[in-house]
Amino acid sequence: MHDAKPARPAPVGSAESHVFHRFPKVTMPRAVSGEGVYIVDDGGKRYIDASGGAAVSCLGHSHPGPIRAVQEQVERLAFAHTSFFTSDAVEELADLLVEGAPGDLDRVYLVSGGSEAVETALKLARQYCVEIGQPQRHRVISRRQSYHGNTLGALGAGGNAWRRATYEPLLAPGTHIAPCYAYRDRRDDETEFEYGQRVADELEQAILQAGPETVMCFLAETVAGATLGAVPAVEGYFRRIREICDRYGVLLILDEVMAGMGRTGTLYACEQEGVAPDLVCIAKGLGAGYQPVGAVVASRRIYDGIVSGSGFFQHGHTYSGHVTACAAAVAVQRAIREENLLENVRCQGDYLATRLTERFGNHRHVGNIRGRGLFMGLELVADRASKEPFDPSFRVAARLKAAALEHGLICYPMGGVLDGQRGDHALLAPPFIVTENQVDEIVDKLDASLASVL
Ligand code: PLP
Repeated sequence: MHDAKPARPAPVGSAESHVFHRFPKVTMPRAVSGEGVYIVDDGGKRYIDASGGAAVSCLGHSHPGPIRAVQEQVERLAFAHTSFFTSDAVEELADLLVEGAPGDLDRVYLVSGGSEAVETALKLARQYCVEIGQPQRHRVISRRQSYHGNTLGALGAGGNAWRRATYEPLLAPGTHIAPCYAYRDRRDDETEFEYGQRVADELEQAILQAGPETVMCFLAETVAGATLGAVPAVEGYFRRIREICDRYGVLLILDEVMAGMGRTGTLYACEQEGVAPDLVCIAKGLGAGYQPVGAVVASRRIYDGIVSGSGFFQHGHTYSGHVTACAAAVAVQRAIREENLLENVRCQGDYLATRLTERFGNHRHVGNIRGRGLFMGLELVADRASKEPFDPSFRVAARLKAAALEHGLICYPMGGVLDGQRGDHALLAPPFIVTENQVDEIVDKLDASLASVL
């Protein structure tokens, strides 16, 4: 006979826990419930979720819309394989995503998360090139310090040296140009606009060097999230990128896994750049954490190229277009529209930016405050005047994360060595339903957390 199970499972990191935790040496609270913008642990402590996990929980943790949608869908039909059936939820989700999309983005391929979305976009791009008679196009150009997911294809397409290092022999080598990161890289003798044109022009140089006929796509985040901390490109950068891609027949893939689905104040972040990509990857806020779901929205040209070629996309996952996940995502899209949440993102985003600037604008360890909508980053530095980063051994990001949890705050600090540039930042991405009082609570708790670390 087995021994009776303990009433409460073993804590993270203890010898009795059988979970393969990612950070087994870090003690974590045990989450038991969610109420609006708060997560509650098993001791009853409440944490204000100022980062939506990692920019996921855009409706907070107890929104009745997706909860009911999931319950109803599971009762009716939990799963129907998309190679046999379409369904109301899949069709409606695609309609909603296309209705709000820029340019000729017109067809939605549904997957289960961000890495899958990026892999799918890369394969769509490749198959399109083959179908239109340009099989020599296979090279992916992306940016240094970028992150596009952790599966091998997505990791191989990214430019984050730290995340790639262990797996390098398994990854595509890739070509990486500079990110658009004005705080660190703009020269004193150039305007922001000139800086943006200069770094965008690195794409043209990379294409020419690789051989334009071999380049398949340029992949970039519209607003750089996890690795840089909510860094929007400067004015004109993406328009120049689009021009260069068009000049050489290179596809533009925008990764909006983090920045998309309303986080920056428009459904697609690229709407604010005045460009439409050929493919856009979305996930995270698409299911708002109620279900894992992601998608690639493809231009008509890509779809037509494949359909009028071999006639089908050589790709697929068992859970692509999972009907319950899609039902949750439909409910999220409806809530965003019915509750006018994009307006709240813009309005509370402005308020958050103002409060952060008031409180931390002269903080000796906050070098830069940036972002868009409810997607804000604070760059943490040892010295504000020189922009000198913290010594990595100080582990400022890890310390801040722990201190924030102590203070009942969930923020998303990241740090470490990034391609020779050290950098630490704290990312804020609160739910779209956040109120002014809750923004104040976030800023107060962040202040207290920073004070206990620095
Ligand atoms: N792309 C970007 C920009 C991301 O921020 C992430 C995750 O943080 C991904 C892709 C990968 O998404 P997922 O973790 O859902 O696989």
